[in-house]
Amino acid sequence: MITDYNEIINILENINPIKYAKDRNFIDGSVTRISPYISRGIISTKQVYKFLIKKGYSLKNIQKFVQEMVWREFWQITWQSNNIDKDLKHLQKDVEFYGFPSIIINHNTQINAIDKSIEALYDSGYMHNHLRMYVASLCTNILNYHWKLPAKWMYYHLLDGDWGSNSLSWQWVCGANSNKKYYANQDNINRFTKSNQKNTILDTSYDDLLNLKCERELTRNFSLELNVNYPKSDKFLNKTQKPICIYNYYNLDVNWRKSLDAHRILLIEPSIFKQYPISDKAMKFMIDLSKNIKNIKIFVGEFNELPIKKSKVYFKEHPLNYNYIGTEDSREWICKPKIVYKSFFKHWNTVIKQLYLNPL
Ligand SMILES: Cc1cc2nc3c(=O)[nH]c(=O)nc-3n(C[C@H](O)[C@H](O)[C@H](O)COP(=O)(O)OP(=O)(O)OC[C@H]3O[C@@H](n4cnc5c(N)ncnc54)[C@H](O)[C@@H]3O)c2cc1C
Repeated sequence: MITDYNEIINILENINPIKYAKDRNFIDGSVTRISPYISRGIISTKQVYKFLIKKGYSLKNIQKFVQEMVWREFWQITWQSNNIDKDLKHLQKDVEFYGFPSIIINHNTQINAIDKSIEALYDSGYMHNHLRMYVASLCTNILNYHWKLPAKWMYYHLLDGDWGSNSLSWQWVCGANSNKKYYANQDNINRFTKSNQKNTILDTSYDDLLNLKCERELTRNFSLELNVNYPKSDKFLNKTQKPICIYNYYNLDVNWRKSLDAHRILLIEPSIFKQYPISDKAMKFMIDLSKNIKNIKIFVGEFNELPIKKSKVYFKEHPLNYNYIGTEDSREWICKPKIVYKSFFKHWNTVIKQLYLNPL
């Protein structure tokens, strides 16, 4: 996985937003794989958007791609104003189990495309959006597990783990953040994963899928602990009491307050990772990305344990930074309407109107 900032910027050259609109739902479609970089805050959605407009694309031609990035922003805004650890709009219906379904964790669903995508998730930290939807639907709507623990399992392994997109997408699939549950049968999976499998649990009509009763063996729970391994802290005594810029799992922006003569600290708070654990691969990815920030020091501990002394503290706004004290800088958005909408399409209509008025 690329972690050098200049090489990351080069990846933007490969984005084909026009082909994307046609084939993004297919396993071999023109998806960009840029989300690990956006989620870790080393690049922003706005930066990607500006890059494409400056390259000469018209807004009209890249509208589908922009809409996907605006989905991401919509989930972030929803997270800013809601407790997304709970069922957001409705209680998830028909829940029978809380935990981790064994056939998912052990990639043993016998649906080849899904099993392969889980193996690839463990291996690479990436899963295609459509496969994420299939896995979430199987867990929640077929096996009748509550969304939250399986969502945490997926977040743990993803390099683009972002609790806003993750929790709210799982909840969208299971009807807790939407008005109906999302189902996919084997025909749908075969079409988008270019496979041709028959006789799986999902090889049935949509009517039958709604009333499917799974055998006990399929719904078996797997006992799983999502452990976090922390790196060692660097020595940081703050002798000079320069300002302190705080970086974390969601902000690794290389260009943020670049000209300020400051201590730059990657703050890894165990209290946050206890609530939202991440894998060793995801931890390493964050640390490797942080190396783009000159003289950054790792501090494993809570915000209130930092030797702040008389230093000014700067950080970027984020729902998980609620305990930070200092100057809060805003994040970059493609467009953040003044109204917080509950419906994505109302949000999108406002955004797209503003973008046509002022494309950059
Ligand atoms: C169950 C489930 C869990 C998810 N968990 C996460 C997560 O933890 N972190 C995360 O970043 N995304 C998550 N997503 C959203 C989406 O799957 C990923 O953003 C996308 O697959 C990332 O791959 P990409 O960069 O190749 O996306 P592309 O398809 O190339 O899209 C470009 C960018 O648009 C945004 N985007 C695209 N699709 C979506 C979407 N459906 N929702 C929100 N933003 C989108 C992302 O920023 C992405 O990088 C989840 C979706 C589902 C259904």
